[in-house]
Amino acid sequence: MNKWNIPDLLENEIRNRDIYCIYCWIKFNTESKKNKMTWEHIINDETIITRENIALCCCSCNASKGAKSLSNRLNSEYCKNKNITAKNIAPVAQQALI
Ligand SMILES: [Zn+2]
Repeated sequence: MNKWNIPDLLENEIRNRDIYCIYCWIKFNTESKKNKMTWEHIINDETIITRENIALCCCSCNASKGAKSLSNRLNSEYCKNKNITAKNIAPVAQQALI
């Protein structure tokens, strides 16, 4: 388990699935703080630990979210500036909007 209580098996699965940020598609950088990979709970509830709710996103997308729900986030200035929309986020995040 990692510090988010994500079992190793699930963690590996998600690391293999989410090679890019699920929102802005930036490639994670392991060497610098910029584009750092962070664990994301798509629905803002840290008790929902499923492959549908756990994903990887970059630190700036994660930092932009605050307590906002995903649909509210998509209306934020951050997402508008980065052209992040319900249509171009990763399928796992789109699922959470349905
Ligand atoms: Zn991102």
